[in-house]
Amino acid sequence: MSGPSGVGKGTLREHALKNIPDLVYSISCTTRQPRTGETDGVEYRFISHEEFEAWISQGLFLEHAHVHGEIYGTLKSDVESQLNLGKSVLLEIDVQGALQVREKMPEAILIFIAPPSVDALRDRLLNRRTDSPQIIELRLHNALRELELQSEYDYVIVNDDLDFASRKLREIFDGEMR
Ligand code: 5GP
Repeated sequence: MSGPSGVGKGTLREHALKNIPDLVYSISCTTRQPRTGETDGVEYRFISHEEFEAWISQGLFLEHAHVHGEIYGTLKSDVESQLNLGKSVLLEIDVQGALQVREKMPEAILIFIAPPSVDALRDRLLNRRTDSPQIIELRLHNALRELELQSEYDYVIVNDDLDFASRKLREIFDGEMR
């Protein structure tokens, strides 16, 4: 699942994990600093640039990408161990990462969460007050690039209404698991 920062992926993910049986979340690694309230091993594994680079050279990542000036990635072993247990694995990753996953696992389903408009996205980023104005501008700039790539995805959900978007996500899972 991908979509620009502020589009509501986090909330949709929580709904999906509560409502979809046998769905687990893959916790990503990142070099960015934890935000207030974030805990290592819960939202992300927060690791240093050195460690990240070392793990990349050891081939430990299923995918990784530079996003908003930091590195983010999904560990291969995390996804494989859950798939081996018969679970479905939800990745919440950027567009570059999603395209790498598709290359390596063509059976992956790519879902793009789109905002109703760019203005709505700006409002959401400003309202959540987690980032400085410069970071918000950077995230909006990146959002426009990401929106251009939504045609690469198997499904696009416009997150205008949370209940509706959540239901759509559930329908996609039900349809794909049949
Ligand atoms: P944030 O810093 O706001 O938590 O996340 C910023 C962006 O990084 C989001 O668009 C998110 O989807 C992306 N991201 C988070 N984890 C990963 C990951 O493991 N791989 C990739 N490629 N992107 C990620």
